Amino acid sequence: MPTRPLSDYLAEIDGADRTGLEALRVQWLGRHGSLTAALRELGTLGPKERRTAGQELNALKQAVEERLLARQRQLQAQALSSRLDNERVDLSLPGEPVALGHPHPLAVTQERLVSTFVAMGFAMAVGPEVEDDWHNFEALNFPPDHPARDMQDSFALADGGWLLRTHTSPVQIRAMQQAAPGPLRIIAPGRVYRRDDDATHASTFHQIEALVIDRGVSMAHLKATLKTFARALFGADVPLRFRPSYFPFTEPSAELDIGCLFCQQAGCAICKLSGWLEVLGSGMVHPKVLQAGGYDPERMTGFAFGLGIERIAMLYYQIPDIRLMLQGDLRFLSQF
Ligand SMILES: [Zn+2]
Repeated sequence: MPTRPLSDYLAEIDGADRTGLEALRVQWLGRHGSLTAALRELGTLGPKERRTAGQELNALKQAVEERLLARQRQLQAQALSSRLDNERVDLSLPGEPVALGHPHPLAVTQERLVSTFVAMGFAMAVGPEVEDDWHNFEALNFPPDHPARDMQDSFALADGGWLLRTHTSPVQIRAMQQAAPGPLRIIAPGRVYRRDDDATHASTFHQIEALVIDRGVSMAHLKATLKTFARALFGADVPLRFRPSYFPFTEPSAELDIGCLFCQQAGCAICKLSGWLEVLGSGMVHPKVLQAGGYDPERMTGFAFGLGIERIAMLYYQIPDIRLMLQGDLRFLSQF
């Protein structure tokens, strides 16, 4: 028979943690528990004793069970409350930062160029990056063995006659063939390929070029268009200079220089001490190119100009090496 007073049991229960509480329950009320054993022993007592002892023991057992249950609920409530304390959501905390991407500096520059031209009334034209020799060279007045072909050392494809276009000018031919004999005013941005690879040339780069064909188009229209464009892009005060040049597909040809943006024409490393930066090549469309596009050069004339998008981006962002543009290095790209 148990001799311990109820208060001993209750004190043990109140001091137990969750594991200790279960151990106490097994120790007292389990199959081999001490109270279970004591209840079993009641059978060995005489009827009178059994009645008294039975009442006491059952009362003790009930009190212990109730206290065990109460303590268990108390411990559960404490655990829940401390978990809520730990996991509380603080709505005043700033959110987790999300890494947002942004447009590539080339895409930003191309978009800026395109929107400038579109505002001037040009339409967009595109063409294939894999071209045939005729569209890439011959129609643009680069006959076979013409030395100007060497300036555009190209990637030829194994299947004879195909190459990766070396400039966006074949788009002009394709657009002319569609529009002839009507007027035409397009820009053609796109990726081009040449076998160059140094700090200022890359084997893959981007050009944008413009072509206008109509009755009576003259060099004056070309100059006015370039002036408007250059001022929209580089500011109304930018000094401009036309310099005679040579391209097989234009005659006469001129390059447009702008006053160096970095030294205000005092002379610096970027402008190679000249005070001028080359921006684009231009000219009046060669009669042979007009003919190749399906136009009668006696009736229609036109002008064209083209520029490297990387070159403009390098001027804008002062990027020293063109190859950085296509390497996808986040240390470079995240600066923009
Ligand atoms: Zn300079």
